[in-house]
Amino acid sequence: MSELVIYLKQILEAPLELSFELIPARAADRLGDLILEDPPARIGGELRVEKIQGSILVEGRLQGYYHVSCSRCLEKAKIEVDSPLRLVLLPTPRFTHGEIELAQDDLDTIYYDGDPIDLEPHLWDQVILSIPQQPICSLDCKGIPVSLPGVTQGDSACESGFAVLKTLSLPDGSETRR
Ligand SMILES: [Zn+2]
Repeated sequence: MSELVIYLKQILEAPLELSFELIPARAADRLGDLILEDPPARIGGELRVEKIQGSILVEGRLQGYYHVSCSRCLEKAKIEVDSPLRLVLLPTPRFTHGEIELAQDDLDTIYYDGDPIDLEPHLWDQVILSIPQQPICSLDCKGIPVSLPGVTQGDSACESGFAVLKTLSLPDGSETRR
């Protein structure tokens, strides 16, 4: 079990302070191919877990780096993280299924079922949220070298659109050229 599995009894009397490191292999399902396996990600940080009345407050810092595909050239883009993090965990409310799904859209609030609580999936969610919408490998990345964006040599979609021109004859009898 990871150090991120918290038992309620650990935080009943006093806040729990811990440092952690996230292990990408344990989150493969969650990460899919969002974060590249090679070079390996190193993400960790410090947390303070505190019980406040009915909820659990998790505050701390997420630090480290990981690699994703550059949105321009598809090469590796290194993303560094160093950001505060704050999560509020509440016991799962007893709603109907549909209502729970709506409530869980609220990203800062997490529902937990019983004891213990594994914080690791929720920390990975924070990492995923930190991925830029259009990550780039470097500020001057020129992207993939192609003459015309979206049009490549031998592209069947383009061929089919213009192929009919080959069959046309001009009034003087000469054939059209592409
Ligand atoms: Zn790039």
